[in-house]
Amino acid sequence: MRAVFHAIAMHIDARSLPNGSLLEGDLCIVGAGAAGIAMALEWIGSKHTVLLLEGGGLDYEPAMQDLYRGKIVGLPYFPLEAARLHQFGGTTGHWAGFCSTFDAIDFEQRDWVPYSGWPLRREDLDPFYARAQPLLQLGPYDYAAARWQRRDPGLVPLPLDPTVVWTKMWQFSPPTRFGVVYRDAIFGAPNVQLYTHANVCEIVANEALTAVDGLRVRGHDGKEHRVRARQYVLACCSIQNARLLLASNRRATAGLGNAHDLVGRFFMEHLEIPSGHLGLETSRVPGMKMYAFTLGVTKARGELALHAGVQRARRILNGTVSLEPGTADEVAKSTFQSLNPQVLAAMRDSTEQGAPPPSADSTVVPPAPFYHLMTRQEQAPNPLSRVSLTTERDALGMPRAQLDWRLTDLDKRSFREFYGVLGREFGRSGLGRVQMLDWVTHTEPAWPSTLSGGWHHMGTTRMHDDPKRGVVNASCQLHGVANLSITGASVFPTAGAVNPTLTLVALTLRLSDHLRLKLG
Ligand SMILES: Cc1cc2nc3c(=O)[nH]c(=O)nc-3n(C[C@H](O)[C@H](O)[C@H](O)COP(=O)(O)OP(=O)(O)OC[C@H]3O[C@@H](n4cnc5c(N)ncnc54)[C@H](O)[C@@H]3O)c2cc1C
Repeated sequence: MRAVFHAIAMHIDARSLPNGSLLEGDLCIVGAGAAGIAMALEWIGSKHTVLLLEGGGLDYEPAMQDLYRGKIVGLPYFPLEAARLHQFGGTTGHWAGFCSTFDAIDFEQRDWVPYSGWPLRREDLDPFYARAQPLLQLGPYDYAAARWQRRDPGLVPLPLDPTVVWTKMWQFSPPTRFGVVYRDAIFGAPNVQLYTHANVCEIVANEALTAVDGLRVRGHDGKEHRVRARQYVLACCSIQNARLLLASNRRATAGLGNAHDLVGRFFMEHLEIPSGHLGLETSRVPGMKMYAFTLGVTKARGELALHAGVQRARRILNGTVSLEPGTADEVAKSTFQSLNPQVLAAMRDSTEQGAPPPSADSTVVPPAPFYHLMTRQEQAPNPLSRVSLTTERDALGMPRAQLDWRLTDLDKRSFREFYGVLGREFGRSGLGRVQMLDWVTHTEPAWPSTLSGGWHHMGTTRMHDDPKRGVVNASCQLHGVANLSITGASVFPTAGAVNPTLTLVALTLRLSDHLRLKLG
């Protein structure tokens, strides 16, 4: 006889359940990382029972991490078992906390970016960004450089033409470790039942493939359990969301939600790569506090980005560049030292005398003569950049994932154009000179060995109103399957220029509101 577990407040290690248990609730969330925990927190105190299924334990376990191991083909990439954490709190146990908002242009259908366009606009996400902000322990929901300047007159953007190059604001989360910060709230919630070591290995759909009948959960101990709920949310991150849908192929032979061969496709990363140097004409720059500061408890900084009008005119992708001051030695070796020899001498003196760096709270942060330019650029959506299944199986019998990360010519050309515009604008304004690294100027398709992703996994279950062009609809519901939704960066149709977590948490809160309407 099957043991039936209804939600009562507590955390249960699924290894302690009798084999063949049935877990029942109203809302079942699969995955307890940033997205899954953000969703669960929204439902605390509601009349609904929430099952939060976490594949890993409360802490790091090599056997759990090994379930993430996969094959890399295409461009070199981080080992999959190192790129995500398989435990309560998910990858927020590793993340660095860089946060910013997507720009309006990121949501637009851009005719020069194939497959671009979200079925929602930036302003649709604004209220959810505002709600996501405190969850990530960020400061005020404000990403306008001019308004930060009102808070502190020392925060002056570089006087470049803002219709060409503007200062885009970032804030830094402490970074919030969801598994630590929200542990007590989840454990103590009367209507949330957290199951750890509860790996979902299959989503079981009805015969017509219009609804989920249940989930199969497996453990290393060989036990298997069933889960039933009214609504289900996948929150396992991009690679595992796709893997789980593709492996749920008992009835849907190509994988659940994959009738149009879209699941796993359009995997995207941010291209993070050193791209150039900036020699600053320091006498013309009022101060550089804007580009790294702490105000009250908020750590923030500006980066340089190209205005949407320039992106349109040049038909390029969105990107942003951070300014990291170089050392006196680097200045001496650079070709920029002729710019301002007095500053170089002063910098050498201060290094020799061991002068402390300017305090983050001082009103003026003097400009350095030399900065490293580190770019973060969106990757163009590409159906050939994809996650699929291998024939090898993990310890729980699930096919392992294969990642084939691929880029296009547009990705490369966008860097060249970006630096061309940036260089001309610094020259025109008399503020300094930009020196591109050699690889930026080369037109051949090869990428330098310094190319890296940002550890950001996006795409794979993209959002589109048309089921032939997207896996989920604008409400994050799997097309055609009324009680299954997906959240996380896997639903992003395009990657934006900035790190994904703030946006994916905002989307999760938006999905939560949709589910409230469904569950009543
Ligand atoms: C080194 C590093 C630095 C980063 N820095 C930043 C940054 O500065 N800014 C930023 O925005 N982002 C950053 N990220 C990315 C950020 O960590 C992710 O965007 C974020 O964690 C994604 O949240 P998520 O909930 O979708 O996925 P995750 O946090 O990965 O959570 C997924 C959860 O699902 C669980 N799970 C998976 N499969 C199953 C299954 N089959 N059954 C049950 N449970 C399952 C996992 O155990 C995990 O708990 C960084 C990532 C890394 C690795």
